[in-house]
Amino acid sequence: MKKYTAVVLFSGGQDSTTCLHYAIKQHGAANLLALSIAYNQRHAIEMEASAQIAEVAGVDRVKHSLDVMGQVGDSALVNAGEVIHADGRDDKDGKLPTSWVPGRNMMFLGLASMVAVKHKARIVYAGVCQEDYSGYPDCRQEFVEAMQVAATLAMPTSLGPIEIKTPLMNLNKKQTVELADRLGSDCWLALGHSVTCYEGQRPGCGVCPACELRAKGFKEAGMIDPATL
Ligand code: ZN
Repeated sequence: MKKYTAVVLFSGGQDSTTCLHYAIKQHGAANLLALSIAYNQRHAIEMEASAQIAEVAGVDRVKHSLDVMGQVGDSALVNAGEVIHADGRDDKDGKLPTSWVPGRNMMFLGLASMVAVKHKARIVYAGVCQEDYSGYPDCRQEFVEAMQVAATLAMPTSLGPIEIKTPLMNLNKKQTVELADRLGSDCWLALGHSVTCYEGQRPGCGVCPACELRAKGFKEAGMIDPATL
């Protein structure tokens, strides 16, 4: 079994692409395993993007399926054909966006921890962010800290603690763009292949909440989104 230093949750979106290149700077591409999780029937293009970006970066990638989330999760992101609203107007409580998949990051971080242990890695990277995310509960710092404790307790003590690193946690979209800029041209070019759009388009549709947020970040940073060129 090949050993890695860290497993990076990698969807092929803007945040996880930036997170991947952050991890490359810390550990080197050869020491990372990118983990792409298929769960949503809407966007095959995200899987294609993640494969392409990982290959260009020289990072090994594994794809696992959590199709069960399409059956359990009641979210516009997994229910094909539903319109995604950012303001939660279709949410039963009227608070959370319809794109939110309840408990998704619990599943993702749990699976990533299992993959990490399999490959003797002690670190899991995730591009989650508690800024600009409409209050997704499982993007909060306190959830990630709790999950880190849970993942560590779920594994043999002899393996030592699992560390979950979230370099984007406290960055807004403008700051995430600026981080990508500082990470250099490889990261910037990779962003050109990333897919954020809820409609699964690249370049994005420009009108869905994800596209709006992405565009706002690049505009505030005073830079042009390479995916639009
Ligand atoms: Zn869009």
